[in-house]
Amino acid sequence: MTIRHHLSDDTLLAYANGTLASTLSVVAATHLAICPKCRNQLEFIFAAGAAELEVLEPDFGSGLDLSIIDEITQLPQEASSIKPENLTLQTTDEKQVPKPLRNILPCELDDIPWKRLVPGISHYPLKGFANPDGKGALRLLKISPGMVMVEHSHSGQELTLILRGSYIDEVGRFAQGDLADLDDNLHHQPVADTDQDCICLIATDSPLKFKGFFSRLLQPLIGI
Ligand SMILES: [Zn+2]
Repeated sequence: MTIRHHLSDDTLLAYANGTLASTLSVVAATHLAICPKCRNQLEFIFAAGAAELEVLEPDFGSGLDLSIIDEITQLPQEASSIKPENLTLQTTDEKQVPKPLRNILPCELDDIPWKRLVPGISHYPLKGFANPDGKGALRLLKISPGMVMVEHSHSGQELTLILRGSYIDEVGRFAQGDLADLDDNLHHQPVADTDQDCICLIATDSPLKFKGFFSRLLQPLIGI
């Protein structure tokens, strides 16, 4: 597996700080389990946070803004359950679902009880990961080969991890293991581009914005 698209530094920092939305954190953790590059970058962020703490410690009580100190000291505790050594690196069996996702799936990918949204596109919502504000969603999406997704943009952040197959959009080609880290600046229309279904894990922190009149009518029905 060659991974070409990764988590942005901003997303990794939010993940390390524990401020990334819970839906997005599931996708980030699943990508980290299979991506040495992002794991190294996350370790670097943890190390930088620890070094900053060491520099600041001698100044405790010397008039510094203690709220800043509190903010930094929270980092290792909040991130303790997700630090890199707790993630299992998987590179040997590319058919296997990475562990963070496997732990919350009710069955193997081949046995998922897909729900059809429109012909050629099915989904499987993963409940129980709602963000505190109730917005956003976490779901698996299955797209038939050659299927063109509805053109859409984002009112927030969207993370997509490719589990099988691939798709292509305005950014490039995304294959197994790749992570699309999209913000609200991108308007895109993915196309599944191989001879097998494209299965993705997708998280949003707010509803998508669809462009066409028909798709805007469809949005309340399909619930994306
Ligand atoms: Zn990565």
